Amino acid sequence: MTEAQTWQPRYASRSVRMEASEIRELLKVIAQPGVISFAGGIPDPALFPMEEVETAFVDLLALPNAGARLLQYSVSEGDPDLRRWIAGYMAAKGVPCDIDNILITNGSQQGLEFLGRLLISPRDTALVLAPTYLGALQAFAGAEPCYDILTPEQTNRTAASYRDAAARSGGDVKFAYSVPDFANPSGETLSLAARERLLELSRSLDIPLIEDAAYTDLRFDGDDLPGLQALDVAASGGIDRSRVIYCGTFSKIFMPGLRVGWVCASRQIVARLTLIKQASDLNSSALNQAIIRRLAEQCFDEQVQKVRASYRAKRDRMLAALRAHMPGGVSWSEPKGGMFIWVTLPSHIDAADLLQRAVAEVGVAFVPGRAFFAAGEGSNTLRLSFSLPSVDEIDDGIAKLARLIAAE
Ligand code: PMP
Repeated sequence: MTEAQTWQPRYASRSVRMEASEIRELLKVIAQPGVISFAGGIPDPALFPMEEVETAFVDLLALPNAGARLLQYSVSEGDPDLRRWIAGYMAAKGVPCDIDNILITNGSQQGLEFLGRLLISPRDTALVLAPTYLGALQAFAGAEPCYDILTPEQTNRTAASYRDAAARSGGDVKFAYSVPDFANPSGETLSLAARERLLELSRSLDIPLIEDAAYTDLRFDGDDLPGLQALDVAASGGIDRSRVIYCGTFSKIFMPGLRVGWVCASRQIVARLTLIKQASDLNSSALNQAIIRRLAEQCFDEQVQKVRASYRAKRDRMLAALRAHMPGGVSWSEPKGGMFIWVTLPSHIDAADLLQRAVAEVGVAFVPGRAFFAAGEGSNTLRLSFSLPSVDEIDDGIAKLARLIAAE
């Protein structure tokens, strides 16, 4: 008997919406020896600060009362010293705040999931870009949202048109979500005008705006643009008046495995999210937070430089290989940072079909783009990640993929 016959009738509607991610299923198929993978958007473990982590573990566990301080339950808001470091980091990004504006989460993924729970009732509408971060669509799925599409680089939708569409779906517009810097999956960075437009739309709709800053520190070229929260804090007069909710993470700079991220927002929002955190998992690991705090204090800036230099070289190699090998009719984004290049194929090529052939025939993997669209379009798009493969694998894999595409 299938799950549809046995268990599915017993599931709550919120769980039925949580489908197995196409990407996670694909990753199983492509995790074969010898496959050059441009698929998983994961940090390069060769860049993890292994010695510093080991020393931090040993030193911290040797402290008096280490058991009570680091292996005990701890406060739901998170380690005050880590939150103090983060408040300083946010201030340097143009968001003066204090520790009551910071909640530590198990990765920024947990922050996204909590925000779906806090803000969305079934049939309410969340505004997202197309394409958008698949993990955000999964994080919000349990809250049973509808989606409508943001077009911040253009100006063609009014607040009223979003409101009307949400009412037709049976709810209200509840928030907008964006990855403004080096987005997953598109690699695109929102222009300053687009940032202002997103803020303007959020103000007209009187909704919160979620800024997912997972890749913000991974800039390879050009100058930083002000973040959405920094712009709003300047315009509104302070973090406690801001409608922007910022999700940050140590995953892309240090390592994802300790699962430490944060939300920075008005203290009212942080207090509400803390209640959700308590209900969900009581607290994030005190030991993991202490390690991250120590690393942040010791070597954050150095680590940012190291990761940027490595990914910049890989981005350059991938762009050079695309230019050298891809046939006419294929276009791609030229990201100024992050981990991803977004490729658009001629419209007759289906990227999911291409993936099957690419793995079987030339041993190359990527992620077909369709999963990143809330409304399921984008069948001729794909995401390439350059963070994990070596530069030689990048040259080799792109040349093979290009030959396959040219023969389609
Ligand atoms: N946001 C974006 C845009 C991401 O790409 C990721 C990681 N794939 C996350 C959030 C979540 O990362 P973490 O939970 O490790 O902070």
